[in-house]
Amino acid sequence: MARVSALILGAGQGKRMGGRVSKQFLEVEDRPLLAYTLDKFQGHALINEVIVVTREEEIEYCWQKIIYRYNFTKVKKIVPGGKERQDSVYQGLLSLSEDAEWVVIHDGVRPLVSLSVITNVLTKAQEKGAAIVGVPAKDTIKFVQPNLMVEETPKRETLWQVQTPQVFKKELIVKAYRQAVKLGWQGTDDASLVEKLGVPVFVVRGDYNNLKITTPEDLVYFKEILRLNRRS
Ligand code: C5P
Repeated sequence: MARVSALILGAGQGKRMGGRVSKQFLEVEDRPLLAYTLDKFQGHALINEVIVVTREEEIEYCWQKIIYRYNFTKVKKIVPGGKERQDSVYQGLLSLSEDAEWVVIHDGVRPLVSLSVITNVLTKAQEKGAAIVGVPAKDTIKFVQPNLMVEETPKRETLWQVQTPQVFKKELIVKAYRQAVKLGWQGTDDASLVEKLGVPVFVVRGDYNNLKITTPEDLVYFKEILRLNRRS
């Protein structure tokens, strides 16, 4: 069976959330956000190991208050991240176990990812080499110039909002990140670096509620979803 490693990113500072606690450690109903996310990967039968990336000064806190406390036995390492998300992913990739064959990259602040979406994107990646989760854009999206004049309106049917998980064959994503470091590529997601290699990436339809908890309004939404899930 192929070995699947998940990289869970939690090294951001979460400035848009305000407050002093990094957003991945904010507690919702007495549980840190990151614990909700890790729960999904701990509970997924196809994930063999989990590597968490946090800021250096939060590593010990993360072991004590999250990993040991909630018994996330699949977490094998917590490694220090970098300045940008891309630097943090690279650090995670460098610490994958030798026998990892597939890498599932996921934002620690997307606790609403479902087990079936993880399965679907992993299955598609194992068929094609690279797959990411997204949802069709609901709004019209425009290219806008710096002076705020609209340049163009791409056809909405062709536009997808992309989320995580993003899943890749290990050699492919490591190669993409090595090239990025060498050539100074910057991307706002992992797949964009693979695309730059000229390798096709496929999208799997996910859920609109797999939200990246970024601002205080997102937390309100998250709490409401938790409440509704408990009732159903
Ligand atoms: O900052 P952004 O909202 O894009 O963060 C997405 C995810 O990447 C979050 O889970 C955050 O903790 C992580 N991140 C990271 N290292 C950084 C910046 C963000 O691991 N330097």
